[in-house]
Amino acid sequence: MKTSIPLVDLRAQYKSLRREIDAAIHRVIHASAFIGGREVEEFEAAFAKYCGTRFAVGVSSGTNAIVIALKALGLKPGEGVIVPSFTFIASAHAIMEAGLTPVVADVDPIRYTLDPESCERVLAKDRRAKKVRAILPVHLYGQPADMDALRSVARRHNLLLVEDAAQAHGARLAGRRAGSLGHAGCFSFYPSKNLGAYGDGGMIVTNDPKAAESAQRLRNHGRSSKTKSKYIHFSMGGNSRLDGLQAAILGVKLRHLDEWNERRRRAASVYTDLLQADRSVRTPVIAEKCQHVFHIYAVLVRNRDRVFNALRTNGVGAEIHYPVPVHLQPSLKACGYRRGDFPVSEMLSKYVLSLPLYPEITPAQIKRVVRLLKSAAAS
Ligand SMILES: *Cc1c(COP(=O)(O)O)cnc(C)c1O
Repeated sequence: MKTSIPLVDLRAQYKSLRREIDAAIHRVIHASAFIGGREVEEFEAAFAKYCGTRFAVGVSSGTNAIVIALKALGLKPGEGVIVPSFTFIASAHAIMEAGLTPVVADVDPIRYTLDPESCERVLAKDRRAKKVRAILPVHLYGQPADMDALRSVARRHNLLLVEDAAQAHGARLAGRRAGSLGHAGCFSFYPSKNLGAYGDGGMIVTNDPKAAESAQRLRNHGRSSKTKSKYIHFSMGGNSRLDGLQAAILGVKLRHLDEWNERRRRAASVYTDLLQADRSVRTPVIAEKCQHVFHIYAVLVRNRDRVFNALRTNGVGAEIHYPVPVHLQPSLKACGYRRGDFPVSEMLSKYVLSLPLYPEITPAQIKRVVRLLKSAAAS
């Protein structure tokens, strides 16, 4: 039997950085600065600089980054946030966890990100949209959403724009990084993301000093970085901190992110070259002015479930991101959406298939995946 090809290969990345990572881990243990401290502050500064924003606030996950960003921008319980129907469920659940209402809109059929026209339709016609205060576009699979058009929608309706950039570390739109394109940007450092920790972690980036200060308080018991008094609590806040070990590891990895993203783009173009002539497959489209970072390389394919099973049976770690759109999830039942409400998302959920992609994947591995996919799609 041939060796398997995983969806992502985190061990290959560790092997290439072992000395640097091990040194960073030992540094934290020797300093015993496990929560907060210098490593976190240094990584926040480096990440803000990388994204081109004034502030970065480290938190405990991407989900908590969204929850805290929405609260820090002043949204109040009962208000609504527009979210695409085709995304990882955390985008919608984070809105709900913040006490807000997810108001779902469809994605566009070319780049699979939030469709500005669907937002306008929802804002005009959907009674759930009365109290909408913000839009949460998701840079799905690593490609920036159409932020120029979404910014016009936001301006017209006086809404905030908060980016879910959990899949798009380093992606660019017209030269500007994902996360710096709205009022705040939210990142996840879940291990398999383009920039991944060795545990959970997340980050909020923003140019708004008040939102940054508020996020710092919300993540840490209402404490302020502006005073030294540990037991004065300026506002309500929980515990959603980024820890020192994760910050030190992420600081090492950040220096390699652009190179890894470049390798992901090259691997993606190998896939696309091999697949684009095949009529049963639709390859990803890179939109104008976008630098895609291919967190996920997803194709649309006929007989998706059969192809998926054939790849799995042959040791290829294919995956489906995502088989059920947000508006049809049991967890959103109370919102009252129905099948047929968002046809593009429903179509995508039937046909998308993610193929193995990571910076270290080889052309030979890609060729093998493509060979198996083509024969399964044709059978
Ligand atoms: C991973 C992810 C999140 C959640 O991040 P966690 O760190 O797992 O909480 C949110 N939104 C999207 C689009 C994601 O891919």
